[in-house]
Amino acid sequence: MTSAPTIGVLALQGDGREHLIALDRAGASSRPVRRPEELEGLDGIVLPGGESTTMDKLARAFGVRDPLRAALRAGLPAYGSCAGMILLADRVLDAPPDQETLGGIDMTVRRNAFGRQVASFEGDVKVTGVEGGPMHGVFIRAPWVEEVGAGVEVLARVEGGEAAGRIVAVRQGSLLATSFHPEVTGDGRVHEMFVRIVIDRQT
Ligand code: GLN
Repeated sequence: MTSAPTIGVLALQGDGREHLIALDRAGASSRPVRRPEELEGLDGIVLPGGESTTMDKLARAFGVRDPLRAALRAGLPAYGSCAGMILLADRVLDAPPDQETLGGIDMTVRRNAFGRQVASFEGDVKVTGVEGGPMHGVFIRAPWVEEVGAGVEVLARVEGGEAAGRIVAVRQGSLLATSFHPEVTGDGRVHEMFVRIVIDRQT
């Protein structure tokens, strides 16, 4: 690996800016992506937190949804946080009937699970593959993962409280997703893990 990997951030809506900063800190060269031609040359992509229904609509309007779906199918590594996790899920519960995802991870997520049922919350989360102690998870009207297929590795579950045991971080191949937003707490370890996934795939 001679140069930093180029990682895009889907910047149609949501907290893309925080991800651009976190990716650059983790050693990537990041840039926003809104249009299909901006997918060219990417080594990976981040799907940010925000509102998955709005991102879905805007992705269709900008003509980027189908090319992005195709790129994911072809193996483009991706990391989705919160709304981005929903976009990477093959199946979604509590979504409007016309909402579609990009898919890629064989899992069912429940939208707004923390917001509706047990309120948005913050708490420590131990994430497999992240060294140096638990992460501080910020869950904002976040999804949780209801069930995963055999090829999906569960990286973290909620440890205590009403949502104890719920899956909040997963990986399937070079696709990574978290219910929480590491980009808002300044803890770069999930972005570092994603940059390693991208680099490992290239070498
Ligand atoms: N509730 C949002 C959705 O369904 C996700 C919230 C978030 O990204 N903080 O897309």
